[in-house]
Amino acid sequence: MTKTTIPIQEINYTSYIKGNLPIILSAPHGGDINAPEIKTRTSGIFDKDDFTKELTLDIVNEFHKQTNKYPYAVIMNLSRKKIDANRDIFEAIEMDDKNALNAYNSFHKAINNSFDEVKSTFKYGLYFDIHGQSHSHNCLELGYLLTNDKLKLEDKELKNYKEDSSLNSLSSISNKDFLDLLKGENSFGTILCKNAQDSIPSSKIHYANDDKEYFEGAFNTQSYSQIGSPMITAIQCEFPYKSRSTKENRLNCAKAFVNSVIEYYKIHFDIDLKA
Ligand SMILES: [Zn+2]
Repeated sequence: MTKTTIPIQEINYTSYIKGNLPIILSAPHGGDINAPEIKTRTSGIFDKDDFTKELTLDIVNEFHKQTNKYPYAVIMNLSRKKIDANRDIFEAIEMDDKNALNAYNSFHKAINNSFDEVKSTFKYGLYFDIHGQSHSHNCLELGYLLTNDKLKLEDKELKNYKEDSSLNSLSSISNKDFLDLLKGENSFGTILCKNAQDSIPSSKIHYANDDKEYFEGAFNTQSYSQIGSPMITAIQCEFPYKSRSTKENRLNCAKAFVNSVIEYYKIHFDIDLKA
C-alpha cells in the first residue's frame, strides 16, 4: 500500500490544504512555533490546545481514506503566546506588529478562500473550528453559539434562540427542526455518541453539569457562521484530552468524527460524500 502525502501549502506559519470536499477545518490553537520576529502577547489566554494540529491532520487523512478526497484545512503553527487565531485582531496579536498581522491575515485569508471555493463549487458546506479542552466530563463539546445556560432551558424557551445559533443556517436547509438539529436524533452530537465519541449537546447529554465546562464557540465560529450563512454551517469542536492524547486515540477519534460528518451530511443535505 502506498502512503498518501497530504497536499499541504505552507504560507507564513499557516499550513493550508486546498481541499475538494465541502468540508472546512481550522485549528487555531495547536501550534508551538515561538518565532523571534513576532512580538510575544502580553494579555489574553496563552494555552496550547495540545495535539489539535495532529488530530486535524489525522481527520484530513481519514477523510481521504474514506472518500478519496480532501477537506479544506487551515492550521496555525505559531504558538498562542505569539498569536491567538480565534480572536479579533485587537486581541489576537500585540499592537503595531506587522509580522504578527501578516501571519494573522494569512490564516484568515486561507479560511476565507476555502469558504469562497466551497460556496462556488458546492451547494452546502460544513465548517469545524477544532480545539481541545480538559474538562472532567471527557466529552466533545459542540459549540453552536448558545451558552450552557441556554442549553439548560426548557425546549419551548430554547427554541426561541434558533436565530442566535450557528445552526440557523442548517435549519433553513434541512427538513429537521432546530431542536432535533441541536440535541435530537439527527443532531451531530447524537451521531457522534453513536460512533463512540460522547458529545454535548446530544440526546444523551443535553448540557454540561458545570457551566464552566462548556465552550459555546468563539470568534471563528461567530464570524464564519455569518460569512457562511446560509450555505455553510459553523460548529466549534472542543475535543476532550483523551481523544487527542495518543496517536491511537487520535486515529480512533478521527474515524468516529469522519464517520459522523459523512452521516450528518447525508441526513441533512441528502448527499453522499463517499460517492
Ligand atoms: Zn482553543
